[in-house]
Amino acid sequence: MTSYSLIIDGQKVETADTFDILNPATRELVGKAPIATKADLDAAVAAADKAFQSWSRESNETRKQACLDMAKVLEDNMGELSRLLTMEQGKPLGGMGSEFEMGACMAWAGAQANFELPVKVIEDSDAQRIELHRQPLGVVASITPWNWPLMIAIWHIVPAIRTGNTVVLKPSPFTPLSTIRMVELLNTVLPAGVLNVVTGTDELGQWMTDHDNIKKVVFTGSCATGKKVMQSAAGTMKRLTLELGGNDAAIVLPDTDVSKMAEKIFGGAFINSGQTCAAIKRLYVHDDIYDEVCETLTKIAEATPVGNGLEQGVLMGPIQNKMQYDKVVGLVEDAKTRGARILCGGEPMDGPGYFYPLTLVADISDGTRLVDEEQFGPVLPIIRYSDLDEVIGRANNSEFGLSGSVWSSDLAKATEVAKKLECGTSWVNAHALIAPHVPMGGVKSSGMGVEFGEEGLAEYTDIHVISIDKS
Ligand code: NAD
Repeated sequence: MTSYSLIIDGQKVETADTFDILNPATRELVGKAPIATKADLDAAVAAADKAFQSWSRESNETRKQACLDMAKVLEDNMGELSRLLTMEQGKPLGGMGSEFEMGACMAWAGAQANFELPVKVIEDSDAQRIELHRQPLGVVASITPWNWPLMIAIWHIVPAIRTGNTVVLKPSPFTPLSTIRMVELLNTVLPAGVLNVVTGTDELGQWMTDHDNIKKVVFTGSCATGKKVMQSAAGTMKRLTLELGGNDAAIVLPDTDVSKMAEKIFGGAFINSGQTCAAIKRLYVHDDIYDEVCETLTKIAEATPVGNGLEQGVLMGPIQNKMQYDKVVGLVEDAKTRGARILCGGEPMDGPGYFYPLTLVADISDGTRLVDEEQFGPVLPIIRYSDLDEVIGRANNSEFGLSGSVWSSDLAKATEVAKKLECGTSWVNAHALIAPHVPMGGVKSSGMGVEFGEEGLAEYTDIHVISIDKS
């Protein structure tokens, strides 16, 4: 079995203690992950701090080339990383699974090379010249979740490195192995210390958010942990980007062409077995087409193969871990006791893995846990509505504000509804459609700050104004 180590200053560092990583499809051992001590974290931060002294002074061209080199490494090692990702995360190799995730890693890494934060001349008059410069921050801590571990790590680390920062990355304890291997590979094209990885329990994340020499935390995970990160980072005034949970509503207007849109709605809800921050988590469907939508989605769900992600033809894997599995089971059981109708699925599947079938739940409404909470699993509540203004209010009646969508054959009308949703991104006739050049971030409790595009890049810098009095 391959052994995994921390990567600090370009070197593998073994630890005294390790923890087991199990395949969620089989519950067999995939590998042992190192447990970093506080001293290991200090060493990683010191290495990143040292590397920052030179990396922050490298030319724009060198940093751009580093993004392209990282994208190439990801491409060259796609097969190995995809397979390891499927084994520890559970998602299938094909479909919207590991190979798709690796494709996104390459696309996002390469795209960072195209983004620029040039010096902005704010005023150049006879009296004065004022320039706005962007400067890197120092050591950035990246803390990632288990649902899209490699893609989210790339979203954090490549813009940080592009802007002259150095990174200490901590993956989720559920999915650390593919991240360790990815960092090891990326280190073949980066100077030592620019990118380090430490793994361990949640406590390690807490040490990072407290650390004196870490200047920024970019965190993707749950709202509850995001709030802890914010509190802990206050002591050292760290810069923060927080990408947190969501409970995205999709509103289907009565004129929607169901046969044309159903596959897209299904994909928007069940991408990664629903374990996606910006997936459809509440589907509001107009009374006129409610039954048609329920029937069409049920047919698609029943025809979608669920199984071990390494097997050919599987399109949806297991739930990633026991905690999430128990949450999903609990939410569906609660919905049943409140009279909801199970259209398909609804009972755990046999086998050693954390398999739960694709489940559609009808005749359910707001005020039920499955509607009000983030299920983060392969279950979609379908809620009937008849009044548009009222349903917009219901969609917005949430502490979350990550994204949302409106579905209709009338794009102008749908766009007007989309503008009324309280969230960072509103799609029309699409959901979870993201791109490297389009900024994305949550409002309300779904986070603060943005990722992607030049707005996302700017989050890894502080401003420095140079003001020259010419008189
Ligand atoms: P989580 O909050 O449990 O863990 C996320 C990371 O935080 C892990 O690496 C964990 O070890 C670490 N952590 C735990 N306690 C910590 C602490 N006190 N200080 C610092 N770090 C700590 O989240 P999860 O269960 O891994 O991920 C699922 C959640 O992430 C869902 O709510 C989902 O919506 C959200 N998510 C959001 C986005 C987004 O872009 N908005 C993307 C993916 C996932």
